[in-house]
Amino acid sequence: MSELFISGGIVIDPEIDGRIRADVWIRDGKIAAVGQMPVPENAQVIDAAGRFVCPGFIDPHGHIDGHEYTGELSLLQGITTTVGGNCGFSPLDIENFFENQKAFPIHQAEMIGMCALREAAGVTDPFRAADEEQADRMAQLCERALMGGACGVSLGPAYTPGSSILEMQTLCRVAKAHGKPVSIDTRMNSMTDLDSLQEAIDLAAHSGCRMIVSHFVYQYGVGVEDEAMAMVERARGMGIDIVFDSGMYKDWCSSIGAALFEPGIMRANGIELHHLRMITGEHIGVVPDEALYAHLREEHPHDAVVVNTGSQRAVYAIAKNPLCMISTDTGAYMPGEGHPQIAGSFPRFLREMARERAELSWEDAVAHITLWPAQVLGLDKKGRMRAGCDADLVIFDPETIADHADFPGLGMPNAANEGLDCVIVAGEIAAKNGCATGAMAGRPVRI
Ligand SMILES: [Zn+2]
Repeated sequence: MSELFISGGIVIDPEIDGRIRADVWIRDGKIAAVGQMPVPENAQVIDAAGRFVCPGFIDPHGHIDGHEYTGELSLLQGITTTVGGNCGFSPLDIENFFENQKAFPIHQAEMIGMCALREAAGVTDPFRAADEEQADRMAQLCERALMGGACGVSLGPAYTPGSSILEMQTLCRVAKAHGKPVSIDTRMNSMTDLDSLQEAIDLAAHSGCRMIVSHFVYQYGVGVEDEAMAMVERARGMGIDIVFDSGMYKDWCSSIGAALFEPGIMRANGIELHHLRMITGEHIGVVPDEALYAHLREEHPHDAVVVNTGSQRAVYAIAKNPLCMISTDTGAYMPGEGHPQIAGSFPRFLREMARERAELSWEDAVAHITLWPAQVLGLDKKGRMRAGCDADLVIFDPETIADHADFPGLGMPNAANEGLDCVIVAGEIAAKNGCATGAMAGRPVRI
């Protein structure tokens, strides 16, 4: 296997909370040494003078699930490990999924999703709760997925409003028994309602599981973000293990056919048609009127839509909270389609939070997107700059790192980022100067 030598960069090691001028030697997919040293004989040298060298970014919340195009867009924003299967949607057979994902642009870990479990247990109506027998069946299938390497369980009551506390509690207990976290896409009762967050806190309190509240800004970023974060902090003060992930955009995304876009639920949430913009399908880029909305719900329920009801202030307030993991919520899109989060999230986080707004030091910003998610997810060999850890690394220019992706109709959702010199996955150069090399060094992350 090839050896790499990253020469003369500024290494940001999130475990020591500081930066050092050091070389990094990579051998057999692992970090062999960090420090000042002579160039090893057979190593390919990468000159990183003036650049930051840090662990590859970890995206704790996505929906790539083996989709290669968005896997590559993740790589091009510096993500070396993604967590799929979120919001309740995942493959049911995780072992089989991993078998089919041997070569991929980045590493994939996978949650087992509640919606997949409900379907397999015969609960087809999203507005109905699973009965006891069905909940038992869900628990068995969940157990099997966790034994097969799933990294946790994802709950999606936002998409299955009928799911009961009992069935979610059962899945939380299974996760706890396996020492794995649970993520939850909280219910959308109304945009400013915090009962849905209390439900997540209660689930964590009663099961003892580690709870990750998904895309916090999309759930609570409409003026209740401070109170929502205070609730999480109070819960932690009582010994409840709860954290959250959040993105860098205020506009959240779903499919137009989802229960969230039932007229009654829209009204309850103060969502109006002018808040919507289609980001896939034949009406891409369009803000729908009444007739188009009805047509899309009827004929194209899977077309994706963004809703711009959030606030930019909330994005920043949440992103700088030490409990926050930065996430993309990326999905399976075709070129030209989708939310800019699929391409720009992590460079945007570094540009806005570290360079332009200085809300976080560079060291804190890097820790936020490397060590912290690795700790939450139990990835012991990732997110760290130590010898023996996985050689998933990013080399970037702090002066120029920037995102350029925008919403369809306003710009390109897959516009290239700037300032990311090199992304290394499992010791191989997977992206260079903004272009994928085709290395396909990503592997399943079985936990
Ligand atoms: Zn999601």
